[in-house]
Amino acid sequence: MKIKNEVITANTIGIGGHVRPDGDCVGACMALYRYLCKVYPEKRVDVFLEQPPGVFSCIGGIEDICTDFRTDVEAYDVFIALDTVKERLGGAERLFDQAAKTINIDHHISNSGCGDVNYVDAGASSTSELVYEVLDEEELDAEIAKAVYVGIIHDTGVLRYSNTTPRTLEIAARLISFGFDFSELVEKTFYEKTYVQNLLLGRALLESIQFMGGKCVVSGLGKKTLDFYHADSKDLDGIVSQLNQTAGVECAIFMYQTGVLEYKVSLRSKGNVDVSRIAVFFGGGGHVRAAGCTMSGTFHDVVNNLSLHIEKQMKEAGIL
Ligand code: 5GP
Ligand code: MN
Repeated sequence: MKIKNEVITANTIGIGGHVRPDGDCVGACMALYRYLCKVYPEKRVDVFLEQPPGVFSCIGGIEDICTDFRTDVEAYDVFIALDTVKERLGGAERLFDQAAKTINIDHHISNSGCGDVNYVDAGASSTSELVYEVLDEEELDAEIAKAVYVGIIHDTGVLRYSNTTPRTLEIAARLISFGFDFSELVEKTFYEKTYVQNLLLGRALLESIQFMGGKCVVSGLGKKTLDFYHADSKDLDGIVSQLNQTAGVECAIFMYQTGVLEYKVSLRSKGNVDVSRIAVFFGGGGHVRAAGCTMSGTFHDVVNNLSLHIEKQMKEAGIL
């Protein structure tokens, strides 16, 4: 797919990504937004996302994002959903539904395509990589390249997870040739943590529990703790990955309380457990090695419900 062929006759184009946008979602949306603004200065292009974490302010044009989802366009000629199914578009779902034509670009295995036109490839490292594929290379510039790079970096754990392919590295090589400071970009958006983020990571690690003979690890943060640190979901990135790096662990669970008897759950796996299947069962989605969902009950209810599925898969895989 080339995006130009899909939007050529449109006068108004909307772009949206998933709620609580992560690096891939922000990178993909901003890259496509900047590209379309550049190639079609005569078209109206709007990008809709919940307020991204502050670290992404280094991506040029981030202040253009409509974080309140308000627009005077009655129905977009084309609306493009990136890195998600339409149900997770948050305030942009309405705009997607009203659009004359919808496009869905995503790499989640749990997404079967929700647009009139779909480009969903679970073999791609990131949605940002797929966005790169739909752009015309000769029209890229350093700012667009930077946005794509941020997305790829975040979904591949800085080009180290198994979703990194030869094609991912080819694209990454091409992107850094634009000359932006990729080293600082990775340091500032991926590795650097605020003091509070480090404290929360510390708490989560200290209070983590290993079970299933050490093959599973779980930790959670309750509302009281989050309130004490004035923390929100943006401060919890990376905790589940750290838990999953524990030697011997096949599957890691991290959850934080979002309401009375409600938790947002993040799952990570080393590959033997398909956490996407588990997340989908509980109404969420994701990838084989990284997925999430929202679950109700107490911390222990959630652990028990997830454990049944994890245990079953581990037995099937012959590792328990
Ligand atoms: P994280 O644990 O980092 O929030 O998410 C891991 C992966 O699962 C991401 O690709 C994310 O988009 C997906 N994911 C997380 N939570 C949900 C959810 O509630 N629904 C769906 N469909 N996907 C989710
Ligand atoms: Mn992604």
